[in-house]
Order: sequence, then structure tokens, then C-alpha cells
Amino acid sequence: MRIGVLALQGAFTEHRRKLEGLGVRSFEIRRKKDLENQMDGIILPGGESTVMGKLLRDLEMADQIRNMIINGLPAFGTCAGLILMAQRIKGESAYLATMDITARRNAYGRQLGSFWTEESFGEEGKIPMTFIRAPYIEEAGNKVMVLASTGEKITAARQDNQLVTAFHPELDDDDTVHRYFLDMIKEA
Ligand code: GLN
Repeated sequence: MRIGVLALQGAFTEHRRKLEGLGVRSFEIRRKKDLENQMDGIILPGGESTVMGKLLRDLEMADQIRNMIINGLPAFGTCAGLILMAQRIKGESAYLATMDITARRNAYGRQLGSFWTEESFGEEGKIPMTFIRAPYIEEAGNKVMVLASTGEKITAARQDNQLVTAFHPELDDDDTVHRYFLDMIKEA
């Protein structure tokens, strides 16, 4: 198994380290040519969605990544990655627009912009969740399965081959979400 990690900006190294700990090979996607590599899944990391979105367009990678995901490539977006995958972003235009969710950016207000909590994730029980100026999912379409919520806010969800979390599982000492993604790849 080999996973491509979008490495234009943000927390891509932490995802690669997590995968390495789980014995999974990964490589960095920095330019269009990197998309020619065989990959079993793609990770879109946290960072700044506006910056990543612009670079994806400037480097002419957006359409290709979008098509790969639409055609079934397992994709995992964390935080800014969730925003990139959302079909709708409150007050802004969408980027890859692959998943039937509405994202709200910087959604916890200035004071609560960054926090840590523990909530259950799917059937897996409670896991640590680190939020950094995180978005949340305001609306999710019929095909979207909610995997985690914090208060009233949806913070993790899946739609077929697509997984998103508003928090950063790559920053905590817990492998649950990455393992979940690897299981999605094995199912595919
Ligand atoms: N606030 C960032 C954005 O809107 C997301 C923050 C993150 O990825 N940690 O893109």
C-alpha cells in the first residue's frame, strides 16, 4: 500500500510519520508530475485552505485530484483538507468540491479557535481530538455518515471513499483515525 500526501503547505510531515508508524509507505505530492505515481489513497492535510486551494489551481493539480477522488480514490482530509473537499463553504467558493458537506471555516470563534477534547469516533470509542482554528460541518448530505460530533457540531464524517475530520489526528498519540482510513483503502 502506498499513500500520496499533499505537501504544498501545512501538516503533511506529521501524517507521513503516522503512516510510517503503521508500516505504510507514503510519498509527497508537490507538483502535477507526482500525481503519476501509483497511489492507493490520498491525504489532504491541515494548514491554510486558501493557500492550498490557490496552489492547487496554480500548479494545475486541482482538476486531476478532484477527478481521482470522484472516481473512487480513497481520500482523507484533515481540517483545511476538509475545507478543500467540501462541496460548499459558508460565504466562500469551494475548491475540490468532492464531498456533499457544507463547511464553515474558523468556526469556533476566536477564543475557542484551538482546543483539545475527547469524543467518540464512529464505533471506536473516545479518542483525543486537537482542533486548531478548525472548521466544522454545518450540513451533511444523505450519503454522508457522521462519525464524530463536538457539541452540536459535526467534526468527522465519511461519504463512500471520502473521510474528513475537522480535528488533527496526526498530532495526537492515537492511531484510530489513520487505521480507519487504511481500512477504507483495504475495502476499496
Ligand atoms: N483555518 C484554516 C483554514 O481555514 C484551517 C486550520 C487548520 O487546518 N488547522 O484553512
